Amino acid sequence: MIKNRKQLIKAYIDFFKSKNHKEIPNVSLIPEHDPTVLFTTAGMHPLVPFLLGQPHPQGKRLCNNQKCIRTQDIDDVGDTYHHTFFEMLGNWSLGDYWKKQAIEMSFEFLTKILKIPKEKLAVTCFKGNKNAPKDTDSAKIWESLGIPKERITFLVEDNWWGPAGKTGPCGPCTEMFYWKKNNPPKKFDPKDDNWVEIGNDVLMQYNKDAKRNYREASQKNIDFGGGVERTIATLNKLEDNYKAYMWLPIIKQIEKLTGKKYGKDENQTRAMRIIADHIKASIFIIADGIIPSNTEQGYVLRRLIRRAVRYGRFLEIENFATKIAEPVFKIYDDYQHLQKNKKKILEELEKEEKNFLKTLEQGLKQAKKIFNAKIPINKQKFSKLMKSPNKADLIGRIFDKKRRGKPYSLKEPKLSEKEIDNAEITGKEAFLLYQSYGFPLEMIDELAMAKGFLISHQDFRNEEQKHQTLSGAAMVGRFKSGLADNSEAVTKLHTATHLLNEALRKVLKDKNIQQKGSNITPERLRFDFNFPRKLTEKELQDVENLVNEKIKQAIPVKREEMSVEQAKKAGAQGLFEAKYREKVSVYTIGNFSREICAGPHVKNTGELGHFKIIKEESSAAGIRRIKAVLE
Ligand code: ATP
Ligand code: MG
Repeated sequence: MIKNRKQLIKAYIDFFKSKNHKEIPNVSLIPEHDPTVLFTTAGMHPLVPFLLGQPHPQGKRLCNNQKCIRTQDIDDVGDTYHHTFFEMLGNWSLGDYWKKQAIEMSFEFLTKILKIPKEKLAVTCFKGNKNAPKDTDSAKIWESLGIPKERITFLVEDNWWGPAGKTGPCGPCTEMFYWKKNNPPKKFDPKDDNWVEIGNDVLMQYNKDAKRNYREASQKNIDFGGGVERTIATLNKLEDNYKAYMWLPIIKQIEKLTGKKYGKDENQTRAMRIIADHIKASIFIIADGIIPSNTEQGYVLRRLIRRAVRYGRFLEIENFATKIAEPVFKIYDDYQHLQKNKKKILEELEKEEKNFLKTLEQGLKQAKKIFNAKIPINKQKFSKLMKSPNKADLIGRIFDKKRRGKPYSLKEPKLSEKEIDNAEITGKEAFLLYQSYGFPLEMIDELAMAKGFLISHQDFRNEEQKHQTLSGAAMVGRFKSGLADNSEAVTKLHTATHLLNEALRKVLKDKNIQQKGSNITPERLRFDFNFPRKLTEKELQDVENLVNEKIKQAIPVKREEMSVEQAKKAGAQGLFEAKYREKVSVYTIGNFSREICAGPHVKNTGELGHFKIIKEESSAAGIRRIKAVLE
């Protein structure tokens, strides 16, 4: 019987290996070559170039277990089945098997390996719209496997995926649901929370072109994703993920520290889940090399820790982060990088918590002062507003109208301009709490909303821009959507990065220089490497010249697949860690550069234009950072 996560992961990988899939590595939570998202949000994320058609060195059938962070689910965290950090089982067909085999394998795994009775399963399929027809194929396949018609529902939005950017692969998906209680109803209702989505087969059938036409794709892919936490709860007949082993020891620890009981009081239970969730996610983010800061991933991390600290205060505990962290290292003893970085992780958690505690109390006092000078919205009206599914949009629109001098009263619930004005926490006030006391915006929002006040996020951001502080607010859009940008500009900068990497080793005469980080947007490349001191003007000029020389020589860029052993022998740069199993892609630029890399790259360096370094600075102890552009 499969009961715990290690057994589940092994059973899944073994099953798909038996179906000729190759296991691919569980990669870092921090995307290596993708500036459009802050975190790895799904197992398919690192596979984007291959879904787009580039051949994968391991073949056309892949599978793995991938750690994921989804900050966009943060509002749902606190329920029984959404987490910021979770593990996702994935299997992929890159132009190999199609719907029938994919669905049959998913079904076989769920019913034969996991032994879930099919009476407890239901599925959704794509209903069809103006872009693509109803996916009757999938429904028929499910029916042939014994899923009755009344357990198959057709939906539109939830059953369409992609494309990741403006164009590219996209298509319907078919989601699998499990009834978490006894006696499943005959008819499936996807809106009933007792049906929990445990897996999803994305069927990349179409290609959206620049003219917004959806055509049958030449390479049709399958992308299955299934949640480990939800599946484990299912297999243990638990209605609450937090009662399963990957959570329970953390919850027990919180109970011990607070003297409060999980499951007794609704608000306290929610707080316990949020604390457990945020601390676990923080541990995994730090383990992948991020520390709390005011930008990008570091800011997300900071917000997670601070939010946990505030919920801790609600449960009347302080200085708890490291104690709650302790069980996480045991639960995930198979993640070597957690164990290896344990000391650093605990130090960072403690430091951030201590820092925040210094200002939390005063900040809450200040917030109270601000609130006391206002009149909250009438309770009934406010709860109506909070229940509207697009409340954030609604509030945004009210303040947008106000800013533009238009009438901004609201019809449903009925709110006069005066009522809105009285309850408004201004952008300036919110920003004060952010700047002086380190309160993240969503925390200010939560505090305000708990009391019946409103904040305009736009006004807050305008204020923030005025102060030119860097914060995560501007980043929000970046982790809401978007996957790898494989635009021409980005592709060119990828190749330029390889040239830069080698040019640095040559000019600085240091063979030990290695890439320590890379981030590419369509505008610029950013490259981190190990080197003990600042580069001189002359050195920077020489590096730039050498790169431009290689561009002028118009050298072909060659891609080959080889084993890690062969790549090493061939002198390729790259990470020679165990995570690279079997075959890898190696890009060679004449006799100048050779690197293990997933791409994409241009065909010839002549395509690059003129290379220019715009900045050289320190990034961390012993690490330098170069920003450069192609003109
Ligand atoms: P939901 O609608 O429940 O949020 P989703 O449609 O966002 O799920 P997918 O993007 O299809 O989910 O991800 C594949 C699988 O990963 C899901 O079927 C689910 O089992 C799991 N999963 C997704 N988001 C979370 C989360 N925040 N916490 C735990 N598991 C998740
Ligand atoms: Mg979701």
